[in-house]
Amino acid sequence: MIQKISELSRILNSSYSAKSILNSLHDFFADYFGVKKTELYTWDGTTSQLRDFSRNWLYIDDIFDKKVVAQYYKIYADVKEKNSFEAVDDRLYFPLKKQSKFIGMLEFTQAEQADELLKFLEVAGDVISLKVQNIILNEKMQKNINFHDSMKNIAKIIETQYELNYIVPLIGEMFDKFVSNHLIYIFLRKEDEEEFSLVWPGACNDEKIYGLISILTSDSECILTADKKTGVFPLISEGKLFGCIVTKSMEGKLNDKEVDYIEQLTNQVATTINRANVYAEILKHATLDALTGFYNKRQLEERLKQEVSSSRRQHLPLSVIMTDIDFFKSVNDTYGHAVGDLVLKTVSDVIRSQLREYDVAGRYGGEEFTILLPSAGIKDACMVAERLRKAVEKRLVDISKLTPEHKNISVTISLGVYQMQDGDEIPDLIIKADRALYEAKTGGRNKVVSAIEV
Ligand code: GH3
Ligand code: MG
Ligand code: MG
Repeated sequence: MIQKISELSRILNSSYSAKSILNSLHDFFADYFGVKKTELYTWDGTTSQLRDFSRNWLYIDDIFDKKVVAQYYKIYADVKEKNSFEAVDDRLYFPLKKQSKFIGMLEFTQAEQADELLKFLEVAGDVISLKVQNIILNEKMQKNINFHDSMKNIAKIIETQYELNYIVPLIGEMFDKFVSNHLIYIFLRKEDEEEFSLVWPGACNDEKIYGLISILTSDSECILTADKKTGVFPLISEGKLFGCIVTKSMEGKLNDKEVDYIEQLTNQVATTINRANVYAEILKHATLDALTGFYNKRQLEERLKQEVSSSRRQHLPLSVIMTDIDFFKSVNDTYGHAVGDLVLKTVSDVIRSQLREYDVAGRYGGEEFTILLPSAGIKDACMVAERLRKAVEKRLVDISKLTPEHKNISVTISLGVYQMQDGDEIPDLIIKADRALYEAKTGGRNKVVSAIEV
């Protein structure tokens, strides 16, 4: 007996993973008592449901059909009531208790030495119960840690980012990690719009979700479907409803604690997005992009108008270069966003260093730049573009201050070039240069493509 107990203790101390503990427990009971199958069911007090340890703690309501589920609940009630083992068909059930509180039960199928097993459990039941309790606490703590990490991440985003296109995927990925086994959707709507549009990820085909969203108002709380598998969490800040986060389960349901966490995260996200909107509004009236020092998009459009009319007036050519960093997403993904920002800034510095004083450079979008070359024809513009391409390719970015394990990296850019033609409308200049840029991308990147023959 003593040997068995010490072997059992060794198994119980070997891991915190429910599944691996249960596997070793089963081997143990199979070896010593000829048990064919060992399962463990625990009681979840927050949802008043039984969970199956061996199936990654899924709720049994989600695993079995109604009849079997009802049977388990009945057995559970009986074992609890009796407060000792119970035999049902070829199975034995043994109660687990924590200070006389019932926390779950062990299930043994076809135990060859049932009497021996029960005798052993009378002694060993407490240590098993204790371990199960520890695992449950550990799981809760892990959720707590993940939650606090997520909160910290959002706080960091609030401080440093203002571009919605940039923030939204970060938030989506964070929720994805936090609420595992759920599909996450983010919907937003503009102040003057009725409809919500999906902004993350690419598609949502669940009509039910659209139905739920349509009933949201600016004082809605979260909406849970009856099966607790889909939750709609409204994004409300300063009394305005401007979107929602939807979680849709692939397996288990949301428990109260998770709902509570998601609500807190959603509130934080609402503040972030609201600030991003306010900040974007302020930035619209500013002229320079904070990171690169180039004109921002709005100002760039202003300058484009001016350059077009002045070129026309003076009968001088005007060329446009659109450029975009190649595979920039993988820079962010590999080294982190701080490195991404540094690379962006470095590329903009390189571009600046290659331009004449009266050329105009703007940040068109995330990692896209637009350069206006007054009095340059297509030939000159292509030469400038090629010079930019080479200069960026050659430039090493020292990232060791941000990621000590790396030193220098380099990136390349693709460029599209266009010279204004008679009859062009202002937006045509950007559209045509952009089309050439697209060709440079599909043609292999790190390339210059001209939209018109040189
Ligand atoms: P491609 O060669 O086709 O252009 O590939 P790509 O990865 O560069 O293309 P994509 O447009 O998919 O990725 C652009 C990325 O730029 C996505 C976004 O995370 C990143 N980004 C946009 N703005 C910023 C910013 O201000 N800072 C940082 N670090 N990343 C940004
Ligand atoms: Mg790119
Ligand atoms: Mg891009």
